[in-house]
Amino acid sequence: MRNLLLSLVPFLLMCLILLSCQGMTTGEADNEFVQNRGAGMDDWFSQPPSPSWKQFKKAPQGQAWFEVYRIRPGIFAIHEPGHFELVISYLIVGTQRSLLFDTGLGIGDMKGVISELTDHDPIVLNSHTHYDHVGGNHSFRTIYGAATEFTRTNARGKSHDEVAGFVSEGWIRRRTPEGFSSDTYRIEPFSVGRTVADGDQIDLGDRTLEVLLTPGHTPDSLCLLDRANRLLFTGDTFYPEALYAHFEGANVGQYTDSARRLAGLVDQIDWLLPAHMEPWLPSQYLVRMRDAFEVIQGGSASFILTDGNRQYSFEGFSIIVPDRPGDNVSLH
Ligand SMILES: [Zn+2]
Repeated sequence: MRNLLLSLVPFLLMCLILLSCQGMTTGEADNEFVQNRGAGMDDWFSQPPSPSWKQFKKAPQGQAWFEVYRIRPGIFAIHEPGHFELVISYLIVGTQRSLLFDTGLGIGDMKGVISELTDHDPIVLNSHTHYDHVGGNHSFRTIYGAATEFTRTNARGKSHDEVAGFVSEGWIRRRTPEGFSSDTYRIEPFSVGRTVADGDQIDLGDRTLEVLLTPGHTPDSLCLLDRANRLLFTGDTFYPEALYAHFEGANVGQYTDSARRLAGLVDQIDWLLPAHMEPWLPSQYLVRMRDAFEVIQGGSASFILTDGNRQYSFEGFSIIVPDRPGDNVSLH
């Protein structure tokens, strides 16, 4: 028996080492490939996919780059799990019209996927116009967008030089589709045919989506509220990872205001459908996000510095804001 216990010692030691490593946080994201995205993101590809995907059935479609899940009748999550962003676009199919909330990275053929899921030529509306949400915009005819300068600038597309880093080594972990080349990757320009305002209702026939302008992550960030079904498509305003309030165009004060507004709707919403990581989260996160921003605004919360920004950690997510030495009270 004693021999057995002794022989277990190296194994137990190994377990202890592994456990303590898991709890470790690094101050800097030391992956030379993925920078400025928060601590610990360097091993994004070794993290298991979130278990919440398992409750949904995959919808058959022909492209290995995408994984499409049927979230609810008429709601498809179109996931790109082979890329660091783990971005999710949503197709919402109505009896009269369909709406595509984001078009992904532009690596796979988003238009091709959509044609396998609906006969409609969908209205495209972007949760915001960062590169990973507008990559397929150019192939669709009807594009709605926010009326901001940020949107107009991004609608001009992004040159290869501007986005080459996002398809470089360390960012992609799945065979890319034939025809794609990281040497020529760019974001094609697109034209916004109609602007949306706060409170606008988009009628799909059996479903109405309400536009909520929620600036903060970007000036043109917006959420879609499906009141009748108690769902909120949150875009990048909330997902269960590092929330970015540190990129160019982000505004921590506006983000805080948007978080407050969304938390005020929590009694009318059951589920959140975010644009990254996971397609289905309880709405209580809206309250946690508001509380988190208020704690940050309070100025006394602890943070780590990661790539020169402050990263504040909370249960189930974190928030990255610019570091402003000597000014940790007002982040407006
Ligand atoms: Zn974004």
